[in-house]
Amino acid sequence: MLRKAVLLIMDGLGDRPVRELDDLTPLERARTPNLDRLAADGICGLMSTLGLGRVPGSDTAHLTLLGYDIGECYFGRGPIEVAGLGLKLEPGDVALRGNLGTVDDSLTIIDRRAGRITDVSGFARELDGIEIEGVRFIVAPGTGHRVGVVMRGKGLSAQVSDADPHVGGVKPHRPVPLVDSPEARFTADVLTRFIATAHEVLSKSRLNQERVARGLPAANYVLLRGAGQYHGCPTFKDRYGLNACTIAGAGLYKGIGAYTGMTVVDVPGATGLPNTDVRAKFQKLVECLQTYDFAFVHVKAADSLGEDRNCQGKMEFIEKVDAAAEVLFGLPDDVLLVITADHSTPCELGRHSGDPVPILMRGQGVRVDSVCAFGERPCASGGLGLVQGGDVMLEILNLIGLGKLVGA
Ligand code: ZN
Repeated sequence: MLRKAVLLIMDGLGDRPVRELDDLTPLERARTPNLDRLAADGICGLMSTLGLGRVPGSDTAHLTLLGYDIGECYFGRGPIEVAGLGLKLEPGDVALRGNLGTVDDSLTIIDRRAGRITDVSGFARELDGIEIEGVRFIVAPGTGHRVGVVMRGKGLSAQVSDADPHVGGVKPHRPVPLVDSPEARFTADVLTRFIATAHEVLSKSRLNQERVARGLPAANYVLLRGAGQYHGCPTFKDRYGLNACTIAGAGLYKGIGAYTGMTVVDVPGATGLPNTDVRAKFQKLVECLQTYDFAFVHVKAADSLGEDRNCQGKMEFIEKVDAAAEVLFGLPDDVLLVITADHSTPCELGRHSGDPVPILMRGQGVRVDSVCAFGERPCASGGLGLVQGGDVMLEILNLIGLGKLVGA
């Protein structure tokens, strides 16, 4: 009997027919013997994450697939990103993400990423704990030039504009209130003062004197964006009673795991880029299922390659995932394996779209259908039909024996 489940999301996997790929999608055109065999062993369908034609963001798509109502649990990207950096949020906190960049004496941005600095942990420590008007700033280092910032205090609002202008050669924006409320005005004011204080602290930092002495640009300015106010969200364990882990390379998806209270498992070589070690992630998954009841596994690059309009690259990355998928045949017999995407990223479009994506569910006792290839069109004739994103967790719970009786 099935008792555990794996939800493997291949980000942006879905696509449309591509002329250079003989009018097949990258997934249809890719050589995928392992994914095809998993499809043949299971039940397939198409899945519409937020409803047909609605174009999902990766953040809202993942929360929906994990069974969260985005009207109740989605508060912008900032809170999810900072959760992924290990910061524990409290209701009322305002979370932002950002970069450490370089500005000159006139405050013009010379480099938004401070020469692609690889480690900002020393700078984050210098900024962590700054307090302004009773608001404490908690600062955590992200990967490379990135930082996460949490504002903790009374009377805050997420209705403040980005300070990061997203381009160099100009001055950073001053955060302004986006609505006419005392909370938004207060937050914008405190944030402005924090940014100025941070610039002062960073400019005097010994770490920056060392960087400049080595000919590197000083990391002397915090460029912040994406404010979101956390209002509380039940953990995955509270919701389903399942001990869950997350295996992901890219920050946002580690964030999704942490935000829903899952254990985020580090895998060396998991980068969130096309060079990621997919096999190492799948091997870690097999190991984790000895401890956990549920695993959310995320593979990013099909989406990024789709956004780069690189159809060939997307197809090749799918083949790389397929080769690693050989490991998935070693999953224990009591594990349900679900493979799908969070949305389509058609490579001729170069951005997310509202097209449904293929889904397969494989495990003991599922009603195996006649689909024997994992692709957008083969899956359309599968036994699952068209699944709604918000129903995926319900069907997982149903198949692992945890479905709730409606009525008596
Ligand atoms: Zn995505």
